[in-house]
Amino acid sequence: MRIPLLDLDAMHREIAPELDDAWRQVSQSAKFIGGEYVERFEADWARYCHADHCVGVASGTAALELSLAALGIGPGDEVVVPANTFVATATAVVAVGATPVFIDVDPSTLLMTAAGVQAALTPRTAAVMPVHLYGQPVDMDAINHVAANAGIAVIEDACQAHGATWRDKPVGTLGRIGCFSFYPGKNLGAFGDAGAVVTQDLALAERIRSISNYGRKGSPYHHEVVGTNKRLDGLQAAILSVKLKRLAAWTDGRRRAAARYETALADLPVTMVRNAPGAFNTYHLAVIRTAWRDALRERLASEGIMTGIHYPIPCHLQPAFTGEDVPSLPVAERAAQEILSLPMYPHLGDAEVAFIAEAIDRALADLAPIQKLAS
Ligand SMILES: *Cc1c(COP(=O)(O)O)cnc(C)c1O
Repeated sequence: MRIPLLDLDAMHREIAPELDDAWRQVSQSAKFIGGEYVERFEADWARYCHADHCVGVASGTAALELSLAALGIGPGDEVVVPANTFVATATAVVAVGATPVFIDVDPSTLLMTAAGVQAALTPRTAAVMPVHLYGQPVDMDAINHVAANAGIAVIEDACQAHGATWRDKPVGTLGRIGCFSFYPGKNLGAFGDAGAVVTQDLALAERIRSISNYGRKGSPYHHEVVGTNKRLDGLQAAILSVKLKRLAAWTDGRRRAAARYETALADLPVTMVRNAPGAFNTYHLAVIRTAWRDALRERLASEGIMTGIHYPIPCHLQPAFTGEDVPSLPVAERAAQEILSLPMYPHLGDAEVAFIAEAIDRALADLAPIQKLAS
């Protein structure tokens, strides 16, 4: 048996005729940049997120950068970000000239905490970027409380958490702005780069749209602000509208696979990253922790089971960000040594999960016999 980390083909096979049709329609209409397909997807995605406004943009990174820029965040400002995230959360901050301030994460969820944000506040803090990592929502009530008291903006990095909810409210609409990526491997993925911003604030949505489109406002020849080109393509939008119809079913598939993992791994000396009460996780990734991570990963690969590490080096230790003083963030640093992302996709079946759990059991019996007995 060969089990990939992600099986996009199984998803696309379900809707192949519709995808082909969408492609052909856009090609015939020549609505390649902006236009009806982008407008339709923006309406679809706003509805899905229970958001008033959605602006389609070029990528998740573009969504983050445009959000910061539209809030006027720039040189001299600090933005609080978790150390355990994809590097784009932090690069977006640097791209607008601001400074990322990395904080440690909760040991059981590996997510940013409100206490961590509180401790990182300075007079220069302008915003906080909670990252709903692995599909698992951050405690947004606590983050919003700290942010409101401090008078700083909340920009959600929901690039891994399509459809996740915190206390029944969809991510993306819990802060001031929510940023999504539709990179092909995300829970909702385009056939290339794509992203979106959602917000309840019309003025902010208009500002983001304008900046993403050369600062245009009103007429194509009137440039209100210095903007850039970070728009969504019509082809990507049309593909996304087709795939969005399947997203709820695919999320169910991911959650079923995650529940199977919970059961199958329950008696093994590994722990799955925990969900906080109130968190509806859409399982972009299924992450376990083990002290034997690297050896286990090799063993699984030798049995045809592909795994990933998200992420092997926390952002604050990346050469791109290490400045004069590198903070010590022990929870994120330790987690980076122990986390392992198991295969996760909507079509991952019972038999595959059982096969993976057995392979983990056998590997750990060799690698960690004492641990195994103790469990
Ligand atoms: C994927 C991702 C991004 C960046 O999205 P792109 O579309 O690849 O630019 C940002 N943040 C997180 C947490 C991500 O997983």
